[in-house]
Amino acid sequence: SQPLMTGKRGLVMGVANDRSIAWGIAKAVHAQGAELAFTYQGDALKKRVVPLAEATGSRIVLPCDVTDDASVDAVFDELQDKWGGLDFVVHAIAYADKEELKGKYLNTSRDNFLRSLDISCFSFTTICRRAAALMNEGGSLLTLSYYGAERVMPHYNVMGVAKAALEASVRYLAADLGEQNIRVNAISAGPIKTLAASGIGDFRYILRWNELNSPLRRNVSIEDVGGAGLYLLSDLSSGVTGEVHHVDSGYNVIGMMAVDAASD
Ligand code: NAD
Repeated sequence: SQPLMTGKRGLVMGVANDRSIAWGIAKAVHAQGAELAFTYQGDALKKRVVPLAEATGSRIVLPCDVTDDASVDAVFDELQDKWGGLDFVVHAIAYADKEELKGKYLNTSRDNFLRSLDISCFSFTTICRRAAALMNEGGSLLTLSYYGAERVMPHYNVMGVAKAALEASVRYLAADLGEQNIRVNAISAGPIKTLAASGIGDFRYILRWNELNSPLRRNVSIEDVGGAGLYLLSDLSSGVTGEVHHVDSGYNVIGMMAVDAASD
């Protein structure tokens, strides 16, 4: 049988390096025959992203800062030009000022609140609108969330609020775009050591906690997330939209692990 993603073209936004969650998803869909375009945020990341993109045979690698409408427009203009259509988008972009990813949420500044919500939530909405205009035969839009949207996690602060808004927007976007057979979903990934995560206070402790307190008793990898991403971006998930799918070793279902769990 044919690879799952044969004939599908997708845009991957949010690769910073080979530890990025976006890269885990890109690898999985590329292995199943998808043709990919990539964006990178600014020149500093260009030299990391270009070789990764080339390794997938990608011929479209463009700068994009989601706070700059002109750069977002330029990406979709290029896709219209080169491909004339689009089947899926991976949105793996988030930002909050590092200084406010420690201490209390209570002290969030207005500037950081607005910037975090703009980059981490609104950008997905505006990208979905532009992508949908290119999706002539339906499509799949995917973003990345975290359990801090649902429950309080240490130091996640304004990012938790932004992810809650992002998860709500997944549901509204799914309703808006369903008629066009465009599906909108999120993966809520367990903690993974990436560039973005290194900004979160006590991240190593969070990793250890998740490992000890999740049913699988391990942390997830970008390959774990890649597998779920492949499912949500392919026709395997043709009946799934508006969903927040946890890829977290089952951590979210646990109220409390047995006392001896850590020593098993
Ligand atoms: P990462 O640092 O590899 O990726 C974050 C990306 O966001 C980078 O490529 C960065 O360039 C991009 N970005 C930030 N601001 C941008 C802007 N203004 N314009 C364009 N791009 C911008 O880290 P990651 O952990 O792979 O993060 C990807 C997504 O996964 C994020 O949404 C993150 O919140 C989410 N997530 C991460 C974890 C984790 O533990 N690492 C867990 C759950 C969800």
